[in-house]
Amino acid sequence: MSAERPEAFRAPVGMHDVLPPDSRAWRDLVAAFADRAERFGYELVITPIVEHREVFERVGEATDVVRKEMYDFDDKGGRALALRPEGTAPVVRAFVQHRPTVPWKVWYVAPNFRYERPQKGRYRQHWQVGAEALGPADPALDVEMISFAHGFVRDLGITQVRVLLNSMGDGSTRVPYVEALRDYFRAHATGMGDEFLERVEANPIRVLDAKREDWQDVIERAPQLTEHLSPEEQQHFETVQRGLDAIGIEHELAPRLVRGLDYYTSTTFELAGDALDAAQNALGGGGRYDGLAEEMGGPPTPGIGFALGIERLLIAAGAEHAGRGTATTVSGVDVFIVDHLGGLEATVLLHELRESGLRADRAYGGRSVKAQMTAANRSGAAFAVILAPDEAERAAVGAKNLVSGDQLEVPREQIAGWLKLRLEGSAVER
Ligand code: AMP
Repeated sequence: MSAERPEAFRAPVGMHDVLPPDSRAWRDLVAAFADRAERFGYELVITPIVEHREVFERVGEATDVVRKEMYDFDDKGGRALALRPEGTAPVVRAFVQHRPTVPWKVWYVAPNFRYERPQKGRYRQHWQVGAEALGPADPALDVEMISFAHGFVRDLGITQVRVLLNSMGDGSTRVPYVEALRDYFRAHATGMGDEFLERVEANPIRVLDAKREDWQDVIERAPQLTEHLSPEEQQHFETVQRGLDAIGIEHELAPRLVRGLDYYTSTTFELAGDALDAAQNALGGGGRYDGLAEEMGGPPTPGIGFALGIERLLIAAGAEHAGRGTATTVSGVDVFIVDHLGGLEATVLLHELRESGLRADRAYGGRSVKAQMTAANRSGAAFAVILAPDEAERAAVGAKNLVSGDQLEVPREQIAGWLKLRLEGSAVER
């Protein structure tokens, strides 16, 4: 095959391979999230990576994520599909389709696709871990979600994290607010350009989170949603704040925090990572979407969720720990077999060690003993098990401690138990 177009054999722009040893941090992060989710009573949900385009159009017709950035296509049967740009819509679609009993509390890990301008911390495929809970409108659930997300970020060793909090109101407060906001922006539109006017007409809330420097003056003086909340919404918002106070989670009110998708109602929140560049400092966020299930044809069901960007979490954790000599996790095995015999003994012993629960590996291809010892040392193993003719005659193997260099002879039939005893006892540093 000729490589006339060498870029065809590279990952697409804005998309990345994650290779060892970096992939170890991913694996650990997802395992920690799964563990925490289960402690909070959430179960794994897996949905397709593509949905009918309407699923996403329904949740954000006026958003960049849906209007400009979606990877959409027609399949061979003429169905209009899209690669998922975010994680909430598919979960709510699954809820509406299957009608599980509520409260329905689920977590996920999945890639999302957005045709954005790639830069550090912003990619065309990024991964999220997230959680959604459908059923209760109880503000205690809002507090649970925020503490789930916040505690997870802290567990990763990210200390520079701020919780930003806002309330988007519900339909009845949002409609008059949007009108008031539109009127305000129209009155201040002179010299702001076509894009401003377009956004104001499509959805003036989308102006509030615009990053354009030249718009900031007007945005800062715009009417605020929290001034328009109904008494019930106000009470809900205050209860959430008191709940966070009660469990010691500091939070800042952020009246212009409207998040990038249109489905949010009531509580919205974001976790800002201050070790990240200011433009890309959102580790993640979420909020309530009390109208979404009904909009997708389901029974009226309140819901709330959050998602955290895996790449951003790892950048933030790396930035905070750089230069501090962190005990990074090193992948590797416990035992490495060095084979001087060249027969099936190594295959049989390796099988036995692995099936007994040990992490074990070997060199392949009949390499020299020296090369095998080098591979053993590089593998991170605590012990090398050496298969050599002299020991074999005595039905034994050599067991070399790769840290101290000490070597012993151990009866062949006892080696698995012997290794387990030592590895469990020493809790080998990895
Ligand atoms: P969102 O779904 O837009 O609320 O995003 C949730 C989180 O996902 C963000 O806070 C980021 O951590 C991450 N994220 C969103 N878009 C991207 C992207 N293009 N590249 C990398 N991470 C992203």
